[in-house]
Amino acid sequence: MTAIQSKRNLLSMKQLSNEQIYHLIHLADRLKDPANVLSYSGLFAANLFLEPSTRTKTSFHIAERKLGFDVVELDGVDSSLTKGESLYDTLKTLESIGVDLAVVRQSEVGGLSACTEELEMPLINAGDGCGEHPTQSLLDLYTIHEHFHSFRGLHICIAGDLKHSRVARSNAYALRQLGARISFVSKPDWQDPTMTKDYITMDEAVETCDVLMLLRIQHERHTNHGGTGSYLKEYGLTVEREARMMNHSIILHPAPVNRGVEIDVRLVECEKSKIFRQMTNGVTMRMAIIHALMKGEL
Ligand code: ASP
Repeated sequence: MTAIQSKRNLLSMKQLSNEQIYHLIHLADRLKDPANVLSYSGLFAANLFLEPSTRTKTSFHIAERKLGFDVVELDGVDSSLTKGESLYDTLKTLESIGVDLAVVRQSEVGGLSACTEELEMPLINAGDGCGEHPTQSLLDLYTIHEHFHSFRGLHICIAGDLKHSRVARSNAYALRQLGARISFVSKPDWQDPTMTKDYITMDEAVETCDVLMLLRIQHERHTNHGGTGSYLKEYGLTVEREARMMNHSIILHPAPVNRGVEIDVRLVECEKSKIFRQMTNGVTMRMAIIHALMKGEL
């Protein structure tokens, strides 16, 4: 943990106090107005994505460009990581040639924390295997706060492939710290004892939760590739279940969505769904995170 808590990095939700989370939420609100956006013109941001990504990578790119950074994009195929260069040496190289901030997605849980000590530039964890996904969590928190203006006392149900979900891990930690009541729905194979031993059914969840946070089945992290035939009926959000949700409740999903598996295809863009709003908020929240790190506020 000492490395995680060191200067100007965002590696885990465990490093953030509630005050820092609220600071980022309010900063993101302010940055919605282009007049409040500071320019980092002349600085370089590098996005090093060694696992696939659509939303996180693109929204970081747009957030960085909106803040005036020049952006360098690297992946596992085109970089010297394929020649055996370590993650640390790759990042040290980027810093040495003038990169001022690096956003990294890679598969080793906690893999970035070993690189922080010797690097001056801020590092952002954009997802580390089944570990954490702090920027997704912050944009989820921002979306919940935008709707409810608070976290305390909200019942939030996280449903799906908990064991392999970095999104669930980051959100469960942060939401508990913020005073929300969390419950979980999961198929026995994908339950995670580090989050809870008590699970509820999807039928209980839909009738009692303020926020239903669905997760994608992480097929790429499974060794046993079973079918998903009955998943929607047993564990997913069907049209019939959605009709039993409370009027004020909302649906979140970090995406990509397996339409017809975690959620009925007709519900992905229903009134309660904030799935595309989460993506829009992801750009603003990532601008706030970068700004706060560059200013030494985290
Ligand atoms: N986009 C999220 C992540 O990178 C969720 C997912 O892939 O299911 O973890």
